Amino acid sequence: MNAMTAPCFHPDQFMLSDYAAGSLQGAVALPLAVHLEYCQQCRRETQQLEEVAACLFENLDPVPVGEDTLEQVLRRIDSIVADDVAPAQGAVPAPLHAGIPRALRSLVPAGLDALDWKRIGSLRSSRLRFGDSEREVALQHISAGGKVLGHGHRGVEITVVINGSFSDQDGCYRSGDFLMRGPDDVHRPVAAQDGDCLCLAVLDAPIRLEGWVGRFLNPFMKIRPL
Ligand SMILES: [Zn+2]
Repeated sequence: MNAMTAPCFHPDQFMLSDYAAGSLQGAVALPLAVHLEYCQQCRRETQQLEEVAACLFENLDPVPVGEDTLEQVLRRIDSIVADDVAPAQGAVPAPLHAGIPRALRSLVPAGLDALDWKRIGSLRSSRLRFGDSEREVALQHISAGGKVLGHGHRGVEITVVINGSFSDQDGCYRSGDFLMRGPDDVHRPVAAQDGDCLCLAVLDAPIRLEGWVGRFLNPFMKIRPL
């Protein structure tokens, strides 16, 4: 994990509070969990939100709960514990998982090389089996200096940089940076010249390619959740 510089791009307060409350939908929580491994500031804010929620709970009258509530609470505690241990930079992961955020390791059990990578120009993409039927979860790898086709979005694309960096017309994004692109956003990511870039992306709708290439390919663009 690259902990040399703190991320510059963060999820907003609403996402952090939804995450703290365990109410983010499907795979949306995954890039946020990855970002938290890199970002002390957001970890602190999430913890504060959880403490506020705990205070509110203390002042509520008890109500009957469903049988699955205990399981949900235990799962949430597991994820909080994982967040808490994440900053332990000294922990050495198995070689297969070196450089892979803790939150992703179970989705990449045999390491990055064992994934089924598909290439489109300088972008290689591999879908991960997360189990969210409405969202595609994928690792995206751009070769050093590589340019991704210019594209817009038909839904929401959440990206977290895992290693390396890329830039577009709005900025330069490095390890841990968290980006959310909506239907009005069009960009053309370019990886830095000094190294490959690896990102996690979660999409709830296909991207929309720009230009004449898009006219031919857009009808075939689909998300394929695993
Ligand atoms: Zn942050």
